[in-house]
Amino acid sequence: MMLSCGVSRLIVRHLRTGVASTAQVPQVCIVGSGPAGFYTAQQILKSHAAAQVDMYEKLPVPFGLVRYGVAPDHPEVKNCINTFTQTAAKDRFTFLGNVDIGSDITFSQLREAYHAVVLVGMKCAELSFRHMALHKTEH
Ligand SMILES: Cc1cc2nc3c(=O)[nH]c(=O)nc-3n(C[C@H](O)[C@H](O)[C@H](O)COP(=O)(O)OP(=O)(O)OC[C@H]3O[C@@H](n4cnc5c(N)ncnc54)[C@H](O)[C@@H]3O)c2cc1C
Repeated sequence: MMLSCGVSRLIVRHLRTGVASTAQVPQVCIVGSGPAGFYTAQQILKSHAAAQVDMYEKLPVPFGLVRYGVAPDHPEVKNCINTFTQTAAKDRFTFLGNVDIGSDITFSQLREAYHAVVLVGMKCAELSFRHMALHKTEH
């Protein structure tokens, strides 16, 4: 794959070192950092004492539409950001912002590098459907 920027090179290095050195530990990758992504991360970290979660987000900052969509006059909805921040502070969690999966890194690269890849949010679902369609035409 042609790497278009330094960020991509850094991420690919992260994929290689992170997974190869701790192959016995479940390595899970979540694409998308909205509520669906964070609740998934929370459950994985809670239900498995050793699992490590890397979260990829195409925007530079996390929380998806809770940050950009939900209006400030709905503070009770935005409150979930506090819980997400606690999850993000855990040692076994890494946030990788500014990475567009499907463009900077391919879905196939993620599948090779992680035990499980979770795509969340509608845009990510589209990515998964595109991957499946591509895979189908290859056979
Ligand atoms: C204008 C607006 C107002 C809203 N107001 C309310 C409200 O008042 N109350 C309420 O309960 N809900 C509200 N919602 C709905 C709420 O924001 C969503 O239900 C919720 O954010 C969905 O969470 P999600 O994790 O599924 O998706 P998202 O929050 O959309 O998160 C998905 C994340 O995935 C990232 N992503 C997508 N594709 C890629 C890729 N290829 N590579 C890397 N990252 C990727 C996106 O950048 C995004 O950060 C509102 C939504 C909008 C649009």
